[in-house]
Amino acid sequence: MIISGKELAKEVKENIARKVASYKIEYGREPNLCVILVGDDPASAGYVRSKGKAAEAVGFSHTEINLPADITEHQLIDRIKELNDDDSVDGILVQLPLPKHIRKHRIIEAIDPNKDVDGFHAKNVDALWHRIPGIRACTPKGIIKLLDKAGVEIAGKHAVVIGRSNIVGFPVAKLLLDRNATVTIAHSHTEDLGQITRQADILVVAIGQPKLIKGDMVKEGAAVIDVGISRDPETGKICGDVDFDEVEPKAGVITPVPGGVGPMTIACLMENTLDCYTRKMQW
Ligand code: NDP
Repeated sequence: MIISGKELAKEVKENIARKVASYKIEYGREPNLCVILVGDDPASAGYVRSKGKAAEAVGFSHTEINLPADITEHQLIDRIKELNDDDSVDGILVQLPLPKHIRKHRIIEAIDPNKDVDGFHAKNVDALWHRIPGIRACTPKGIIKLLDKAGVEIAGKHAVVIGRSNIVGFPVAKLLLDRNATVTIAHSHTEDLGQITRQADILVVAIGQPKLIKGDMVKEGAAVIDVGISRDPETGKICGDVDFDEVEPKAGVITPVPGGVGPMTIACLMENTLDCYTRKMQW
């Protein structure tokens, strides 16, 4: 079974749009998402556009702030502070990656944790690790929703997560652990990756290497979640970390690339923005 992230994302966004319509009447304004793009990398610009389109579709107002690639770290932090202090802004997101002279962690830490819709701020990461309320990172949240939608049992299963970034691998492993899976995290130093992946009832792959996971690396009937977004070196087309044609016949359920995790990441970003707004309005 192929799990369509597109369809589930549509459902999530429709649900948000319904809530926004009634909150607008109750609180007098719609949620407002602010997205900062530093430089003009075409892929980043594309992601920013998709986020803006999704915000419009659910009835949010949104602002795209384009800043030059040579902006200093200090200037960028000052701009973020202005947005932190602006009561009309509910969510702030800085599109990654950033130019090399800007330290990512300094920028993430400059965002007000209550407006950190990406869920990357140390306070939100801390909340995840301590199982207390906070903003959860969008991609891991979307992955859990995809597994739930597909009816995949998580408790008691062996989940293998490949990748340990703070954006995907690490937080998704924690969310799976919190749902009582037994979790193994693999990474670039893992010896014999196939020996680990073949044990997985749930396999989440977040590496960024096209088609690395082959059919013989997957257990029959496994739920396979492909987070990777790369270009196939042969065809130039967008593809995932999983060799879909080889793995799909063996998998119980699988997400496609594109159309799997990607749309869910954006839907969860909208959900996080709505949460930031409602928390503020209901304070
Ligand atoms: P990072 O580069 O931060 O992390 C990659 C991880 O993969 C690292 O932990 C690295 O190990 C591990 N790794 C690299 N090569 C291997 C290998 N050969 N075997 C096992 N592990 C390996 O990437 P991200 O987590 O940010 O993103 C991963 C992928 O997911 C990318 O393709 C990205 O574009 C995509 N992505 C997709 C999103 C979506 O919405 N669909 C959202 C976010 C990311 P080590 O730690 O040892 O270096």
